[in-house]
Amino acid sequence: MKESQETPKSSSKKPYTGQGSIDVFAAQCNTCKKWRVIQSEEEFEEIRSKLSKEPFFCNKRSGVSCEDPADIEYDATRTWVIDKPNIQKTPEGFKRHLVLRRDYSKLDTYYITPEGKKVRSQNEIATILKGNPRYQGVSPTDFDFGSPKVMEDTIPVDVIKKGLGSSNKKLKPTKDGDK
Ligand SMILES: [Zn+2]
Repeated sequence: MKESQETPKSSSKKPYTGQGSIDVFAAQCNTCKKWRVIQSEEEFEEIRSKLSKEPFFCNKRSGVSCEDPADIEYDATRTWVIDKPNIQKTPEGFKRHLVLRRDYSKLDTYYITPEGKKVRSQNEIATILKGNPRYQGVSPTDFDFGSPKVMEDTIPVDVIKKGLGSSNKKLKPTKDGDK
């Protein structure tokens, strides 16, 4: 199920503003390429889960058409990360969390179970599901621990200057690091 991490043109990107996790969800119209803010994570997951079969269009939002200005622009005022398309919707009661590393190198993906337990791997979730009859019908494959791609051109300049965020853009590694 793991396809290439290549940026799908019509995929959904999630802008990030600096608190370490996602604060805005957006999807790109397949026709006009404008970005539309998606109000809830649930709706975003719904769109993402079938993006290849059903590309996103402006008119999927009620009262919105391609003529309307974009809700949000893809630029470096915030950091964008892009999810793979077609990730399964998070099973009911669970929550998917993405946390950006301080050096912007990648996002860590984990799930929170309905009991509030943090799960970091497919093996761990398999064990939990097996040990709890309540989760009958939920499969470990419903969980995707893959990490979205951090869009390099939207990483803050000061992060890049520190030599973090991108290994091939290392300018001047500091001796004492980030302290
Ligand atoms: Zn459009």
